[in-house]
Amino acid sequence: NTFADIDLGDALNQNIRRCKYVKPTPVQRHAIPISLAGRDLMACAQTGSGKTAAFCFPIISGIMKMQDQGAQRPPRGARTVYPLALILSPTRELSMQIHEEARKFSYQTGVKVVVAYGGAPIHQQLRELERGVDILVATPGRLVDLLERARVSLQMIKYLALDEADRMLDMGFEPQIRKIVEQMDMPRPGLRQTMLFSATFPKEIQRLASDFLSTYIFLAV
Ligand code: AMP
Repeated sequence: NTFADIDLGDALNQNIRRCKYVKPTPVQRHAIPISLAGRDLMACAQTGSGKTAAFCFPIISGIMKMQDQGAQRPPRGARTVYPLALILSPTRELSMQIHEEARKFSYQTGVKVVVAYGGAPIHQQLRELERGVDILVATPGRLVDLLERARVSLQMIKYLALDEADRMLDMGFEPQIRKIVEQMDMPRPGLRQTMLFSATFPKEIQRLASDFLSTYIFLAV
């Protein structure tokens, strides 16, 4: 009933308290346990529902656990970086917002969050990536650019979150999204856990869900 009852790891629970989040919102109350249980999720949730935390908390918690278990980390400062989680969002503004929140949630957890969006010079984003990245927040077009430059590899992605998927499709990002997800499936299908968030659930989103998610739980709040 409160975040204190959900074991997300000490550092993350502490950050949640710092953010003054006490009670999970409805989407958080349902989505977080589903994701912690390792299940894929399709959630119908609007802006303002608290969906950002709903996908950030399980991702940060999961990466903290991987780090505790001594998972092999790719070297920092390498040309190609290997994020463990990818959050795709339709716009620069939303990406920046998610990045800002995810950074607050990951404070002192050892989990590093980097953002990359289009419409801004790529070089600063490249410098930022070179310092290491666990969670990459990105817009689809800029990410395809980074993949083509071989500056990002998706071979280690364990968590994928698609935020405002209906808006991404409306903006014509479906080819880029498919290209991105294809690269994740190449090394080890089944490695990835996926969360799809959308305000609406039309045919096109249903198709995306059946293509990208393994047996998934459907959540409407
Ligand atoms: P979102 O839908 O993710 O954009 O979140 C909407 C707003 O609600 C943001 O300002 C969040 O910081 C805030 N928020 C999200 N979850 C909670 C919560 N459990 N308790 C209090 N505020 C929250």
